[in-house]
Amino acid sequence: KVRVRFAPSPTGGLHLGGVRTVLFNYLFAKKHNGDFVLRIEDTDQTRYVEGAEQYILDCLAWCGLQPDESPVAGGPYAPYRQSERKAAYRQYAEQLVMQGHAYYAFDTAEELDKNRKEIPNFQYGLAHREALRNSIALPQHEVDALLDAHTPHVIRIKMPADETVSFNDLIRGHVSFETNQVDDKVLLKADGMPTYHLAVVVDDFLMKITHAFRGEEWLPSAPVHLLLWEYLGWKADMPQWAHLPLILKPDGHGKLSKRDGARLGFPVYAMSWFDAKTDELTPGFRELGFLPEAFINLLATLGWNDGTDQEIFTIDELIEKFSLDRVSKAGAKFDFEKAKWFSAEWIKRSSVDSLKLAVSTVLADKGIVVTDDAKLETVINLIKDRCVVLPDFYQQAGYFFEQPKEYDLNAVKPKWTDAKTDFFGAFTGLLKAENTIEAHDLEAKFKALAETKGLKVGDVMLPFRIMLVGGKFGPHVFDIAALLGKDETVSRIGKAVE
Ligand code: GLU
Repeated sequence: KVRVRFAPSPTGGLHLGGVRTVLFNYLFAKKHNGDFVLRIEDTDQTRYVEGAEQYILDCLAWCGLQPDESPVAGGPYAPYRQSERKAAYRQYAEQLVMQGHAYYAFDTAEELDKNRKEIPNFQYGLAHREALRNSIALPQHEVDALLDAHTPHVIRIKMPADETVSFNDLIRGHVSFETNQVDDKVLLKADGMPTYHLAVVVDDFLMKITHAFRGEEWLPSAPVHLLLWEYLGWKADMPQWAHLPLILKPDGHGKLSKRDGARLGFPVYAMSWFDAKTDELTPGFRELGFLPEAFINLLATLGWNDGTDQEIFTIDELIEKFSLDRVSKAGAKFDFEKAKWFSAEWIKRSSVDSLKLAVSTVLADKGIVVTDDAKLETVINLIKDRCVVLPDFYQQAGYFFEQPKEYDLNAVKPKWTDAKTDFFGAFTGLLKAENTIEAHDLEAKFKALAETKGLKVGDVMLPFRIMLVGGKFGPHVFDIAALLGKDETVSRIGKAVE
C-alpha cells in the first residue's frame, strides 16, 4: 500500500513550497488509494517555535489536504511527533556504533569553532577525523573513560571513503554522490535527541513509508539517508524518493524567499504567520482573499502540468491527472499576476452558495450585516466576475447594502449643468410613480427622458452610476437600480443632487 508523509519541522509559517510538497504527497497518495501521514519533526529544540504545529494543522485544514494519520488524528504508528518518539532512536544510533558505521565524538562547541577557523575547508569527516576528539581518533581506553565520566558527546555517521552512492529519483532519474564530499553528520545529539537525518530514516522505516516527496533543498542529505537505510539493514524497504523542483523568484534568479514577498508586495505564506519573537506578521494567501481551491490550483501548476493547455483543475481532477513524469526538474517561476488570475477564475467559477459565507464575512468585517439572503445571492451573481480576491466583494458589493461613503465628484462636477439637475428631478418623479422597478423598463424610460430633455444618454448615465455606487465601477447601472429598489434609488439621487 502506498504511504506518503509530509514531515515539517515546526519552525514557522508554511510557504508556497511547503504547501506544494503537501499537495504532491497528497495527490500521489489519493491517486493510489494510499495513506497520507503528517509527522511533526520537532527534534531540534533550538528551532522549535510555539504555535507552528497548530498553524500547520490549520493550514492543511484550510487547503482541504487532511492527513489520514497525524498527531491529532492518531493512527497505527502513533505518536506522530518525533519529540514523543525520542526513546526509539538511541538504540539505532548505538547499533550503528557497534557495527562500525558511526562513532562517538566528544568535541565541544568551542573546539569545533576553533577547528572551523583554523583548518582550511574544514569538514567533520574523512580528511580531518583523525585530528579531532572522537572514538576513531582516540584509543579505546580513553573513549571508555570519557563515556564513563558522562562526558557530553554526539554520535556521528562514519562516511565511507571513496564510495559512490546513488539512487533513482522519481523526478531527476539517476543521482549520485561521492562519499568523500559528505561530512560525518551528527545522528544523535548531546541531549539524546536524534537529528533530522537519523529520525527521518527511522520513522520512514517504522511508519512504512513507500514514497517520499520533499523539496530539492534536501537532495544533499540523500547520501546520508541512503547509507543509513543500508547500514540499518532496511535497504529493501527504502521509500522511493522524489525531490521537487524549487519555486523561483519571478525573474527566475534564485529561490523564492520570504523577503521577496515583502519586497515585491505579495504573500509567500499560505496563511498569515505571526512571529512572536520578531513581532512580525507575514501575510498569507488566505488573508489576501484567495479561495483555497485557487491556491491549490496555483500550487499544482508550479512544476507540474498535464501535458495539455488546461490550467484550471479541481482537486479531484488533480488526483486523477497527477503523474510524476509530468513534474519538471527545472525550478518553477512564481508569477503573482498569474496567481491572481487563478484567484479570479475560481471566484468566477464558484457557485453563489459556496461564496455566500466568505462574502458575508468580508462585508461583516466592514460593518455591513446582511440579513436579506436572497439579495446577497443576487448581488454575488451580479458581481463575482469582477472580483479578483474576496475582499473585492466589499468594493463591488458594499453599495448594495449601504449608501456610498464617498463620491467621485471629479468625474461629474466639472460638466454639471442645470439641465442635468432638471433631468434627475424629472427622473425621480417618474420613479416615484412606479410601483416596482425593472432593469429593462427603467433603461428604456431613462433613455426616452434624456431624449425628451435634449441630453445625450451618456451624459446622464455616468452621473447616475456615481449617485448609486459612488464611483466609475460596477455592473450595468439599471441592474443596480433595480436591485436597490425604487425607494433607495430615489433617496440616493436626492442625496447626490442636493
Ligand atoms: N523535517 C524536514 C523539513 O522540515 C523534512 C524533510 C523531508 O521530508 O525529509 O522539511
